[in-house]
Amino acid sequence: MRAARLHEYGKPLRIDDVPAPRPGPGQVVVRVAGAGFCHSDLHVIDGELRILPRLPLTLGHENAGFVAAVGAGVRSVREGDAVAVFGGWGCGRCRHCTTGVEQLCDRPEWVGLSSWDGGYAELLLVPAERHLVKLSTLAPREAAPLTDAALTPYRAIRKALPALAPDDTALVIGLGGLGQYGLKLLRLLGGCRVIAVDVAPDKRETARALGADSVLDGRDPELLKKVLDLTRGLGVGAALDFVGSDATLATAIGATRTHGKVVQVGLAGGTARMKALESVRFEASFEVSLWGTVQELREVVALVESGRLAPIATEYVPLERIDEVYARLKAGRVEGRIVVTP
Ligand SMILES: [Zn+2]
Ligand SMILES: [Zn+2]
Repeated sequence: MRAARLHEYGKPLRIDDVPAPRPGPGQVVVRVAGAGFCHSDLHVIDGELRILPRLPLTLGHENAGFVAAVGAGVRSVREGDAVAVFGGWGCGRCRHCTTGVEQLCDRPEWVGLSSWDGGYAELLLVPAERHLVKLSTLAPREAAPLTDAALTPYRAIRKALPALAPDDTALVIGLGGLGQYGLKLLRLLGGCRVIAVDVAPDKRETARALGADSVLDGRDPELLKKVLDLTRGLGVGAALDFVGSDATLATAIGATRTHGKVVQVGLAGGTARMKALESVRFEASFEVSLWGTVQELREVVALVESGRLAPIATEYVPLERIDEVYARLKAGRVEGRIVVTP
């Protein structure tokens, strides 16, 4: 079967012919209908995140498709079922795995980001049936981005909700795929006003179209003052940073009110500076939110299948053109999400 594999950090992916996986006991093989191309793939391909234990490796951690084969003992899915694949695989035994937050496993085995090959291939070997979420009405290739681009902001926003009263304002920084889902989920679940910030004019346009109450330019030297002015000087109840640079973290922290919450999602390598009585207000809290749980993925799928959450703009590109996808995402020329269709 064909698979887009990374052979060397800093080099383009190569389409290889590799042996088709066969499911062992408890395992499932999924025929990939769609694999979302994520910003973190750029960091891995470019060698900024040298986390892969072996090369070559097939990337792709936002996957969905149809069950192609099941191993002995698999009971919850059968051949032909449409499934979304939860990607935060762990050891299955540690305190995080056994309490439902497997994506936080101390020894992560994330699909396409560990020794397990990912979904930029015709077939994907899933090590356990517990990672599969059955789809009823949603086409798998449409569901693929939900497993990260929607799931990650969903978890982050659920954490911020206790800090967001109806008379509050939320701040969303970075309107890429995750930020767009973040904005939509805040409008759906939060009931508060939303300020959206991005450096790119087209992303600010998208934020307006998705219903942000105020939209600000991330490069505006007066940005923090403008956010504070919009909240009568009090600050926002919660700030969600989908970028994670020095500058965006400083804005998120500086804009958050007393007893508010800053949630960092983006991992652009910035440092969060918090000095009591100076840069951070009383009892404001800071959390780095990571991916989501399989139960949260079921909840996101339910929101979409019931029509309450509409998917962001999605474009489908064949596996052969994956390097083009890389170049476009790198140049910021992607409107919502690009899904690779092997
Ligand atoms: Zn991702
Ligand atoms: Zn574990």
